[in-house]
Amino acid sequence: MSSASPILGIDLGTTNSLVGVVDSGFPILLADETGARMTPSAVHYAQDGSILVGAPALRKRSLEPQRTVTSVKRLIGRRSGEGDWTPPYDLRALGTTPVEVSAEILRRLKAIAERALEQPVSRAVITVPAYFNDAQRSATKQAGELAGLTVERIVSEPTAAALAYGLDKLDERKKIAVYDLGGGTFDISVLEMRDGVFQVLSTAGDTQLGGDDIDRALAAHLAPPGSDPALFLEAAEAAKKRLSSQESTRVDLPFYDGKNSLSRELTRAELEKLIRPLLERTREHCQRALHDAGVMLDEIDEVILVGGSTRIPLVRGLVARVFGREPNTSQNPDEAVAQGAVIQAGILSGSLQNVLLLDVTPLSLGIETFGGLMNVIIPRNSTLPCKAGEMFTNAVANQRDMLIRVLQGERELAKDNWELGQIVVPFPPGPKGSARVGVQFSIDVNGILQVLARDTATGKDIVLEIQNTAVDVDDERVEQMIAESVEHAFDDMNERLWTEARLKAEELLPAVETALAQFGDAVSEAERVTIQAAAAEVRRLLNAETHDATALKAANRALDEATQELAVRLVERAMEESLARRGLV
Ligand code: ADP
Ligand code: MG
Repeated sequence: MSSASPILGIDLGTTNSLVGVVDSGFPILLADETGARMTPSAVHYAQDGSILVGAPALRKRSLEPQRTVTSVKRLIGRRSGEGDWTPPYDLRALGTTPVEVSAEILRRLKAIAERALEQPVSRAVITVPAYFNDAQRSATKQAGELAGLTVERIVSEPTAAALAYGLDKLDERKKIAVYDLGGGTFDISVLEMRDGVFQVLSTAGDTQLGGDDIDRALAAHLAPPGSDPALFLEAAEAAKKRLSSQESTRVDLPFYDGKNSLSRELTRAELEKLIRPLLERTREHCQRALHDAGVMLDEIDEVILVGGSTRIPLVRGLVARVFGREPNTSQNPDEAVAQGAVIQAGILSGSLQNVLLLDVTPLSLGIETFGGLMNVIIPRNSTLPCKAGEMFTNAVANQRDMLIRVLQGERELAKDNWELGQIVVPFPPGPKGSARVGVQFSIDVNGILQVLARDTATGKDIVLEIQNTAVDVDDERVEQMIAESVEHAFDDMNERLWTEARLKAEELLPAVETALAQFGDAVSEAERVTIQAAAAEVRRLLNAETHDATALKAANRALDEATQELAVRLVERAMEESLARRGLV
């Protein structure tokens, strides 16, 4: 554990609350002494003035509902009488307030963290629903402070969830739908990535729709005529959860009312029939949120699931149908918000930097160019995802294709770098420089490199996908590559300059020779001597044992200058000839 005081990430939920912290660069959720990471958001006020929080409080609910406060989040930051929910308890009679009840839960989470971390903590990030107004946000903050926590930031739940799903690495303007079905509420939010942060474009939902409603419907279904459905609530919730992973389950309730017993088989199909109308109600809220955000269905890039009730297969199916795509289920839905709060806390405290730094290219990526040089397209240490490209042409006339060698490494010469793959791009033969081949490299958040080569004449794409190797390189090999590039920096640079000068010389020499042979009469004898001497010097350096890039570059320049006059005259003559041909002179 880092020495600096850590910042806790807290999901203060309507039904369940969680706490976590970044440990050694990884976000983790902390368990209490029973091993549970989820603390029911329940507080029991006993007759004798003692207070129970979490699972022990929840166990008192059926015995003393008036003394057991649950779902207090529905009341926080509201004036009394405001809102659409009447709790089965009277906070005033208990001598408490929503802020104080929330503070009890936060105090418990703080204690869980301090026990797990073996050190005191005093700072936290707390999540709230996106639709919470200022009063509700500041009441939540106040609850934190009452619990002895400095609230460093209040984060909206869908934003936290998106962070947990790793969506902060998405491209700008990507749009995400967050479907959150918890214990008592349903929230749907549409987010957009802008300037590297999430903007909540819209939220919609139903504050009276969640897992509790499913439990009530199922309890009523299970209760034999004349019995009290409340007696079946607990068994109903347990059976509901089992049916998320099983097709059928047994419900056994011996002597539920002291004399009668219940024992029956319950199938998933039976549950689905019961809850389908409830779940269908979420559909219109989704459409509403899209409409309010001004976003079309097909503009949504990702749909993520949040809240314990989204573990129900029927919910997943419904979301898939509503959004026309499979939702992302890669995270635990009931832990995603807390996980995101922890990530946000880690970013604030600076302890997540190491993790973020992993998401860069460890070595440069590029392609081999004519002459065997490395042409870097994505430099080392570029943050993922990233995209870059360049246009290339044919170096010689009548070339029929171009071989693109994808390289990784820091060396100037292609041969010293590692080859990741090859693509051959065919194109119609033509004069030198006539082909136009665009090459684009893109690396997604998962480190998959895609190389796309397109002949702009035909518009035909050739794609090469390279899994992971572009990003997952053994640390030792990265270090060795960098060390070698430093060690050979001078020689490498000289080789690059040499190759560039050589290519230039090889282009210049035959051109000068042709010109002298064809238009020799256009130059004076003195000029011819100067040009031939300059050409000889270029040829000498080109064939010399040691590669003197600077000298060859200078010789190229001298040859270029010596042929200036000749070049001008050649252009003039060509013009005259062309005009004469057209009968204009
Ligand atoms: P909240 O955000 O309201 O605090 P959660 O996200 O923790 O709540 O969701 C709690 C709800 O999820 C409860 O109604 C619970 O019964 C339900 N739930 C948890 N696990 C499952 C499961 N495996 N199948 C169906 N429902 C589940
Ligand atoms: Mg929640």
